[in-house]
Amino acid sequence: MNARHKLGVASVVGLVAAGAFWSTRPSPNDGTRVSFLSVGQGDCTVVRSGGKTVLIDAGPATDRYDAGARIIVPKLRQMGVTQIDMVLLTHPDSDHIGGLSSITRRISVQAIGVPLHYKGHPELSREFKEAGIRDDQVQWIAGPSVAKFGDATLRMDVPAWDPTTSDNEGSLFVWIGMGASSLMMTGDAGEIAELQMIKKGPWTAQYLKLGHHGSRFSSNGGWLEHVRPQFAIASSGKNNSYGHPAPDTLERCRVRGIVVWRTDQHGDLHLKATAKGFVRTR
Ligand SMILES: [Zn+2]
Repeated sequence: MNARHKLGVASVVGLVAAGAFWSTRPSPNDGTRVSFLSVGQGDCTVVRSGGKTVLIDAGPATDRYDAGARIIVPKLRQMGVTQIDMVLLTHPDSDHIGGLSSITRRISVQAIGVPLHYKGHPELSREFKEAGIRDDQVQWIAGPSVAKFGDATLRMDVPAWDPTTSDNEGSLFVWIGMGASSLMMTGDAGEIAELQMIKKGPWTAQYLKLGHHGSRFSSNGGWLEHVRPQFAIASSGKNNSYGHPAPDTLERCRVRGIVVWRTDQHGDLHLKATAKGFVRTR
């Protein structure tokens, strides 16, 4: 184990600017699996590799429904996850961070990664307090960052964000890859952020999670042609009031030959990394 592998969360923060902040020893036998959980109108993606677990977003919660307690924790337990090494929060909206406190009350979470421009955001601060997240557990992501865990590499970056616009537009961009298997995720970023981030790419990926649950204001044609995915995932609730995923978005995928899988129709979607790329599994 080299020096970087031994870094604790606190000392890891200093490496963000250098472009690498988190690393663990690969475990070649476990493989890499990605699960897009069907959490209703919201997002929660589970990435497991080499015995490590990363969540990208923590699912929605409202007064009446908490996907953290109802769906995410039971599913993680089914997967045998007893500790989450990192939760990456793309942006501080309730359909992405709402389930966090229910998760941290039941499963140990080591660290949280979130774009720096949301520091002090009232909803985020409230959720951190409720979830018992300590300052030294939070890694604020300000620019290009790389994290290795197990066999997978995570590349992250954040668009420039104007706080007078929607929280969506500052969403964390996350690319996950190993060999031929790759996946691109953009939280709820809209087309302005997408086009801005093309310049910070390349973000080419076999799978693309459609931005903002498949909203017509995300997954711009230029972005789709930059990422060039074979498959796309839409994470949206059954009969949601927003009409996600939007017919326009589905059409933009269709004309480019991109096959779309939807959590509202197909339920949880599971991918396993292979030498030929991700394959869908049960
Ligand atoms: Zn959302």
